[in-house]
This record gives sequence, structure tokens and C-alpha cells, in this order.
Amino acid sequence: MGTATTTHDGDFANRATFAGADRAQLDDLSGVDVAIVGAPFDWGTTNRPGARYGPAAIRSGDYFGAHASRPHLPTAIDPFAELRIVDVGDFELPLGYMEESVAQIRDGITRIASQGVVPLVLGGDHTITFPNAGGVADVHGHGEFALVHFDAHADTGDTQHGQLLGHATPMRRLIESGAVPGHRFVQIGLRGYWPPPDIVEWMREQEMRTYMMTEILERGLTPVVDEALEYALSGVSKAFISVDIDVVDPGMAPGTGTPEPGGLTSRELLHTLRRLARELNVIGADVVEVSPPYDGPGDITSILANRVVLEILNGMAERKVAAA
Ligand code: MN
Ligand code: MN
Repeated sequence: MGTATTTHDGDFANRATFAGADRAQLDDLSGVDVAIVGAPFDWGTTNRPGARYGPAAIRSGDYFGAHASRPHLPTAIDPFAELRIVDVGDFELPLGYMEESVAQIRDGITRIASQGVVPLVLGGDHTITFPNAGGVADVHGHGEFALVHFDAHADTGDTQHGQLLGHATPMRRLIESGAVPGHRFVQIGLRGYWPPPDIVEWMREQEMRTYMMTEILERGLTPVVDEALEYALSGVSKAFISVDIDVVDPGMAPGTGTPEPGGLTSRELLHTLRRLARELNVIGADVVEVSPPYDGPGDITSILANRVVLEILNGMAERKVAAA
């Protein structure tokens, strides 16, 4: 058992929760602000599998030991002091069973959100954003929040191998179900060779706002994020943030299922996420597509995903401090 100490030195005895946060039960979240939950799920993957190992790898991707304190160096704000953050563990999903898994995740997310708690989901492949954002929409209202989506891919496929559920289709399912209408979508980082023109045309018809890497390169990231924030906040005050780790260049995030060269740098993503979590009212988030078996030397993708979670938490904490 880990013993409480007052330093950050060395307690690696208890790494079972994210950043050493308290363990809690999913249905007992009184007073909690953020519940971290893992979805060890990768049966919606089309290329490299392995995201089922994501939650465990993201949790262990830091070197501070099991002390729930992470004051941010530039702001000195500690999200674990400003927010009540707990880890409810992982969903126990029926391995390989798509519809049952998606239903179970949606039910769990709905139960978290209905207690007034922000679910922050460690994936898992991107299939899970359908039940994650869908479950949040079941509580906060369909069409009532923006979805800010970081990804190399649009994930707006109509079907995947003839199936409705998979990591190429979650955004289409959210739009078609009305949970998140197309005009509430902001996508950042798209590039490469998918989806085909007919799907891009469908996305335009849905009024999705997409910022491809080409536009980010030509205009610069900051003006694009300024505009993305304005777009996300037009008509609604709340937002769900979905981060597919493949939005980052595979040189900095190789441990993922469908790597696409030419992405954001780690520091661009981290800085942008903290800003978004500070300026938006985040009601849910997920970090997906981390596939540890394909990670590079030194677990660089898992460490990055760990910091993605921390930057979102730090942005939320900054927002709370600023409002106080
Ligand atoms: Mn994706
Ligand atoms: Mn992707």
C-alpha cells in the first residue's frame, strides 16, 4: 500500500488511478467535478489494433508517483486542488461485442453526467465518442453543446465494412441521431487521403466546420483556434472535446492505429487544449486511439496522452479559478 507523503518523490506503489486521484464508484459521485473512466475497447479499429491497452498506458504515463497534485508550472494552478477529480476505473466491456459495448459505455456516461459530473474518458478507439458524446447529450440535451474534435480523420463515414458502428463513423452517428448536429462540430487537424469527396460534400451539407492542416499551416494555429472558439460558442455555451491522438504527427505520436504524417506538434496540441478547456464550458471529453503496442521508444504517445488529459484538467481548473 502507498503511504501518503508530502513530496513528489518516488511513490510508485499505487499507480492504479489517473495521477493518483481517488478511486470512486460510478454511481456515487456526490461532490465530484470530473470522473475519469477508461474504455478498453478497440474492436472498432480498421488498421492497427491495441487501443484496448490505452487506458492503462495513459494512467501510467507520468513520473510523479501516486500523488494527486499537478500544479501547472506557468499558472501554479493545481487542478486536483481546484476540482474534485476521481477515477472510477474502466468499463468492463464484453470483448469483441460491438453493440453491447457501445450500449454499456453510453449507459455509464449517462449515469456519470446525470450526477452533474464531467466524464473524461480514456480510450479506446474512436468508436466510443458516439456513446461518450451521445451519453452526455442524453443528459445535457441533444443539440445543446458544441463538439470540438481533434483528428487527422473526419470519422464521418456512413458505414464501416457495412456496419454502422466503428472508429470511422462516430461523428456521422452523432449527427444523424441529432445528439450533435453538424453545425455544432468543429474539427481541427484533418489531412491525408480520407474521406472521399462524396463524404466531404455530405459534411459540407451538414455545416460542419473543418480546419484542415493546410488551412492551419497557411493561416497559423492561433487565428484558427480563435475562429474555432467563436464558432463553437455560437448559440451554445457548453462543449465536448474529443482528442484523437493521431491529430499529432506520428513522429511525436506513433502509438496509434491509423497514423497520418503531417500533423500538429505535441506542444501545439497541449497549448490549444488548455486554452479551449479554459474558454469553453467543458461538459465531457475523451482521449482516444492510443495504441501502446505501436508506441515508440520511451512510451512517447502514452506520455503525450497523459499530458493531454492534464492540460484539459488544467484549463478547466483555470476557468474555475477565474470565475471565483
Ligand atoms: Mn478518430
Ligand atoms: Mn484519426
